[in-house]
Amino acid sequence: MMSQHHLMLLNDTDDNYNKWGQRKTSQLLYKSFVFTIVMILVLILMIIVFGSKPSISPPRISINNCSSDYNFDYYELALRWPASECFEKSCLKYTDMWCIHGMWPTLWNNHWPQDCCFERTFNVKNLEPIVSQLEKCWQNLMPDQTYDSLWRHEWMKHGTCTKMHQFNYFNKALDLYNSFAVGKWLTDHSIVASNDVTYSLKSIHDAIDESFGHKVQLKCIHVNEYSLIDQILICLDKTSFSPIDCIQADSCRSGPVLLPKTKS
Ligand code: AMP
Repeated sequence: MMSQHHLMLLNDTDDNYNKWGQRKTSQLLYKSFVFTIVMILVLILMIIVFGSKPSISPPRISINNCSSDYNFDYYELALRWPASECFEKSCLKYTDMWCIHGMWPTLWNNHWPQDCCFERTFNVKNLEPIVSQLEKCWQNLMPDQTYDSLWRHEWMKHGTCTKMHQFNYFNKALDLYNSFAVGKWLTDHSIVASNDVTYSLKSIHDAIDESFGHKVQLKCIHVNEYSLIDQILICLDKTSFSPIDCIQADSCRSGPVLLPKTKS
């Protein structure tokens, strides 16, 4: 038979057990509440850091934030060699002449901002005084595109990341292009367009270094064992537009390099 004392002890133990259980439950509830709040705060922080603030470093990231000042480091004036670009695809008519591809605001880490402001739409009317010049040296080569498609593309992707007015952007690129005799830099060193003769990458760099006095970047398209030079990138100071040395980031292989001739 259980004594009064034992009964009281049992009741006490039950009470204590219930209280302990209640304390445990409220502690658990409190912990999950704190955990949820912390998670919400972390989520909000992540949205603020990664969501609303566009990063300008990685290439190929559309920014589209018209109010930002895209603090790029320098410009690259990209010149293209149509015969390389059109070596394996059909293009509109072109000649053996270095042409303009674009003028690109770029960062020293070889990344660049792009598509910076969709509101700064392209209007070919702004370019009326220079259209005939642009058609000669900044032409569209793709048969299924309009005559102004390359200008539109370059403006939206790269021009909108500068603070320049549309006319000034294209006019400046034209002026710079006219001041660099790239074709002559090469022919003066007997580097001429040919489908038989190949050159070493070094001989092309040496020719340009000697004639121009600054390091350029060479870009190639690869066909079989050949590197076809398809672009020369000239680097320019972002305020004075004076030539500066480019970082060495050629895309050409070290083997034989071809500067192909236009197929007739
Ligand atoms: P675009 O569409 O005019 O940008 O030209 C496309 C080609 O140019 C791609 O091969 C890109 O990797 C390259 N490109 C574009 N912008 C730059 C830049 N700022 N520096 C180096 N390469 C670039």
